Amino acid sequence: MESTKGKLKSQEEESEILKAREAFVCINSKDKKNSLKCDAESVSGSVSQRACVYCGARVVLNPITDAYHIVHGPIGCASYTWDIRGSLSSGEEIYRNSFSTDLREKDVIFGGEKKLSAAIDEIVEKHKAKVIFIYATCIVGVIGDDIDAVCRTAEKKHNIRVIPVKSPGFAGHKSMGYKAACNALIELMGKEKPKTKDTKAVNYLGDFNLAGEAWIINNYLKEIGIKVAAKITGDGRCAEIMNAKSSSLNIVQCAGSMTYLAKRMEELYGIPYLKISFFGVEDTKLSLFKIADFIGDKAMAERVRAFVFKEEKEIEKELKYYRKRLEGKRAAIYVGGGFKAISLIKQFNDLGMETVMVGTQTGKKDDYEVIRSLCAEGTVILDDANPAELEKFMLEKGADILVGGVKERPLAYKLGVAFCDHNHERKEALCGFIGAVNFAKEIDLTINSPVWDYLRLEV
Ligand code: SF4
Repeated sequence: MESTKGKLKSQEEESEILKAREAFVCINSKDKKNSLKCDAESVSGSVSQRACVYCGARVVLNPITDAYHIVHGPIGCASYTWDIRGSLSSGEEIYRNSFSTDLREKDVIFGGEKKLSAAIDEIVEKHKAKVIFIYATCIVGVIGDDIDAVCRTAEKKHNIRVIPVKSPGFAGHKSMGYKAACNALIELMGKEKPKTKDTKAVNYLGDFNLAGEAWIINNYLKEIGIKVAAKITGDGRCAEIMNAKSSSLNIVQCAGSMTYLAKRMEELYGIPYLKISFFGVEDTKLSLFKIADFIGDKAMAERVRAFVFKEEKEIEKELKYYRKRLEGKRAAIYVGGGFKAISLIKQFNDLGMETVMVGTQTGKKDDYEVIRSLCAEGTVILDDANPAELEKFMLEKGADILVGGVKERPLAYKLGVAFCDHNHERKEALCGFIGAVNFAKEIDLTINSPVWDYLRLEV
């Protein structure tokens, strides 16, 4: 019997980075010339971890709990449902259903517009739908169904909102799907300017309420005297999103998916935006102060100070306990966007751990600059990685844990490395002060689990 790590080490030695991928990987150093390529198309043949355009759009729009989502395409595309991209609702549950036009060969030859119109009619008749999103998939982009025209006709016929989402899977990668979803949200809000503004109301963009995070942040903001007018999109409602243009500020949690929407809302409705992050104690504190500074007065700043003091006091002892158990451990991170990676590095630093590898699917140049400034020399930084690269560097750097999403989980387990899901499959909220404790607890339980001492490959 030999350990998994030992066995796989020899496989890793054989694994090379593709020549065309070399520019997307760097070893952190103070040398500025050692730059990293990012925000580009995936390299052909590299098996990117990124999802397709349609999947990107679905991630953003699906958490709107009272909207209907029709996937115009083959049934396979529709398998990307709430069940694998969970988000919580405090009311409506209709978003947990998946509707599809189930396009077949005949529809590909003769066109799928009639089928789409019939699907809209059926949903309106059976469910009294008020807002329907229509997602274009690969085949719809190829056969050229005019979904704009179908949506316009359906809106007039039923006097409801039917909004096209321009998301054929081949039209780029996940980031383009985010953009397509944001354009659909603007379509839902309408382009006209708001008549009045609520000076104490903010919109919360880019939290998908995977495990109740949007509720935690909603309560924090309420406590300091700020109203969340629209949650976009976790636990979102169509009516509140339509009204979002009356708020005075947009706060953006997931910058990768929502900065485009925030910029469009600034152009169209004059709403400024702030990039914030509620992952980790440090970023949660900073974000609350930033919001209060922007929107509030002296009294609000005082309330934030008192609130932060109380919350930090409550979690101090627990975090100290976990720091002792985690000090010196090595973490690898591979997540969707830069904002999350940055907060995670800070959280690991706070726990006394070292980040030895960090990568994102859609990080931007600015994100990577911050990442480089936070990581030690020698940390592997990579953009749009593939499984072979992740495995190679996890082993080379001796990572004790990988933080990622559903696609990264098997990579870690295959290597006998602990794993923390920081994406749609988790059940414990990881944001705010309580989330910082939940995170430390999960990392401790996972890294220090006795299972790693017993794990062996079959020989
Ligand atoms: S790549 Fe195309 S066919 Fe595949 S899930 Fe995405 S939209 Fe559907």
